[in-house]
Amino acid sequence: MLVMKFGGTSVGSPERFLAVTEIIRNTKKQDGAPIVVVSAMSGVTDMLIEAAQLAKERDLDGALDMLDRLHERHKDTIYILFQQSSIVDELIEEIESHLNKLDIILRGVSYLGELTKRSLDAISCFGEILSSLILATLLEKKGIESRWLDARSFLITDNVFGKANPLWETTTAKAQGAILPELADDRVVVTQGFIGSTANGITTTLGRGGSDYSAAIIGVACEVSEIQIWTDVDGMMTADPRVVPEAKVLSTVSFQAASELAYFGAKVLHPLTIKPAVEKEIPVRILNTTRPDFTGTVITGEDAAQPIYAIASKKGISALFFSSLNMLMSHGFLAKVFSVFDKFRTPIDLIATSEVSVSVTIDNKDHIDNIVESLDELCDVRVMHDVAIISIVGTRFRDQSGIAGQVFECLKNINVIMISGGASDITLSFVVSGADADKSVKLLHKQLFKD
Ligand code: ASP
Ligand code: MG
Repeated sequence: MLVMKFGGTSVGSPERFLAVTEIIRNTKKQDGAPIVVVSAMSGVTDMLIEAAQLAKERDLDGALDMLDRLHERHKDTIYILFQQSSIVDELIEEIESHLNKLDIILRGVSYLGELTKRSLDAISCFGEILSSLILATLLEKKGIESRWLDARSFLITDNVFGKANPLWETTTAKAQGAILPELADDRVVVTQGFIGSTANGITTTLGRGGSDYSAAIIGVACEVSEIQIWTDVDGMMTADPRVVPEAKVLSTVSFQAASELAYFGAKVLHPLTIKPAVEKEIPVRILNTTRPDFTGTVITGEDAAQPIYAIASKKGISALFFSSLNMLMSHGFLAKVFSVFDKFRTPIDLIATSEVSVSVTIDNKDHIDNIVESLDELCDVRVMHDVAIISIVGTRFRDQSGIAGQVFECLKNINVIMISGGASDITLSFVVSGADADKSVKLLHKQLFKD
């Protein structure tokens, strides 16, 4: 039993809908009827949120204009997919009945000039409802028996609107009850990502990009053997292919390493969203809708065999260097430094210390002036802007010799500004100037992925 989640770009156009249909057909043939979780068509959730904002600002015309555009986009998709068949009228009628509800909600918001998180969820849920209705109907038309299920009937959450969490016990029982009999009858289940409902039936959403989370929740609840995240890239790679054209797709990545890579912008998915699946040892596979035969990347709870997965970099970082002779043989200095970062809610990414100094990097520069000002009395402060973090991500670094040697050997002509290693067993990170970042990644890729 499989969960297949299709993201917004995978259902972004009539052609993509058709491609997805064939992927589902093949899977059904090979592995039996899958559970299909869909996102809204690409861009639709943004439009819904914008409509909500316009309504809140009492620009009802603007909001309703957005609604018209949504109507047109879905209607056009339906006409292209179904031409003039009798299904068209029925489907358009159904879509319009949902859009009528949305119309009423937008009028309410604009009348009150108030948009609560709860109202926003009631608005932003519609993208997934519409895309899933289109997909379920298309499957039927193509002779693939399917059942459309409203995720709000089984994915039951707390009432943290905008970022809801599943209530596992209820969700598990309800999801199994609703989904499993359909699959047993060989019907593909089509449902929505991103949305759920409270126990009282109020619509909630799981947060932006939440469809991956839905796939994991449903997969865990139904104890599937694999969760597939269908997207528009081949998977996670050994480096950013724009920097290193010969970068390769990773066939397996540990969950921990996937989390590290996500920080560096490998925006394939947000690893936290698949944590429930990893904890239950259900593999999560990333696949490309435009290249369905490619095996993609599997994220598992276990380490893979290869010692080094990838070289990642993040530019636009600031490095701060604090030093104080008073620190010599004394205590409390680090605590004081860190408390200032805490006060200004600024996360520290890398850190390196010596007897009288401490260096850190930060990504969020909003409060850098306040931080420098607060620490100026305590110690000497130096700031470097536009540096880059380079990270080697792999597995069990503490048990292996030679990794640091290889890394710094090939960077002998690069000015390495700061090094932070050993904090985690799976990364070795250092800082170079922004201008040296791509060059460093290229050199490292060549050295570490020789074969
Ligand atoms: N449609 C929602 C969003 O754009 C959820 C998702 O695509 O994962 O955030
Ligand atoms: Mg999305």
